Amino acid sequence: MKVKIEDGCIACGACESICEAVFTVEDVAVVNEANIAGNEECVKEAAEACPVSVIIIE
Ligand code: SF4
Repeated sequence: MKVKIEDGCIACGACESICEAVFTVEDVAVVNEANIAGNEECVKEAAEACPVSVIIIE
């Protein structure tokens, strides 16, 4: 699984609260790529919860 954040993140914090191992929100969300393996389910939940749909799973 690859995960990226497109432009447009509003730094709401939802992805980090759902899947804090993978997402860290500062000015915008960033992906901690080393932690994706084993956290795929919460990555998907975060992508679905993102209010502006900028979490892209490839
Ligand atoms: S849920 Fe979406 S808008 Fe909110 S911080 Fe994460 S990537 Fe940004």
